[in-house]
Amino acid sequence: MTGESRAQSNSWPSDWFDRKAGRDCPLCARGRTDADEYGVRIFAGECSDAYLQREAIQPGYVVVVWRGRHVAEPTDLNPQESSLYWAEVLLVARQLARHYNPAQTNYEIHGNTVPHLHTHVQMRYLNDSPPGKPLPWANKRQLPHHQFENDVRQLRTIFGYRPQGVAD
Ligand SMILES: [Zn+2]
Repeated sequence: MTGESRAQSNSWPSDWFDRKAGRDCPLCARGRTDADEYGVRIFAGECSDAYLQREAIQPGYVVVVWRGRHVAEPTDLNPQESSLYWAEVLLVARQLARHYNPAQTNYEIHGNTVPHLHTHVQMRYLNDSPPGKPLPWANKRQLPHHQFENDVRQLRTIFGYRPQGVAD
């Protein structure tokens, strides 16, 4: 983020409530795509998609995106939707934990930039920093390409996920 844009971000956008209501929502516009500029899909559930993130503080950072109608807050889900969404978030997290063997799993819901319901699932390791606190988002970096591609391949196998347009 540049100094100029940081200075401009000292207040919430004037159209914030329109965005929360779904106007110009980038996640709704993008739809259930196999990949976007941030990550690659490793899981497609009934009501969510999970994307392994190219930029991360450490391996095992996945964003689970609610799909369907535009929803900003988890409290906007009806009981059936919320049960299904949390079940899918936990399914993803459970398999990530088996794969990465973390010391702890973190779940974060913010929506402060893109107000469309999504959950950040992050693996924490005994040697990561800072212990006992949330990971510092400013320390995100591009993961090594071979490591990222290897993780995508393995996680897609674990989730039984086959990218769209791939016949076999
Ligand atoms: Zn949306």
